[in-house]
Amino acid sequence: MAYVIGATCIGTQDRSCVDVCPVDCITAEPEDEMLFIDPVTCIDCAACVEVCPVEAIHPQAEVPAEWADFTHINRVHFEDAAAARALVRAWTERA
Ligand code: SF4
Ligand code: SF4
Repeated sequence: MAYVIGATCIGTQDRSCVDVCPVDCITAEPEDEMLFIDPVTCIDCAACVEVCPVEAIHPQAEVPAEWADFTHINRVHFEDAAAARALVRAWTERA
């Protein structure tokens, strides 16, 4: 399992979670509208959850149903960042 960042990070991006992650698995490129958690590197410590001001971070098994796409989007970011950006944009346009 891993933790997953959801929609409320879009446009917030204050990076509080980056500062507390012990394995540096939360990243984004400058052109991204949100941050992403690498599901391979995340050690499920939950340190990021409490510091997020917009409750964007959940364990994969508890991601709110309306954010289900973000489990996939977080994974895609680490394979193809441009593709993940397009998925985030599409999700925002649908919301
Ligand atoms: S759960 Fe821990 S390891 Fe995973 S992203 Fe959050 S702070 Fe990093
Ligand atoms: S703390 Fe929350 S809003 Fe801030 S960058 Fe991390 S996931 Fe996004």
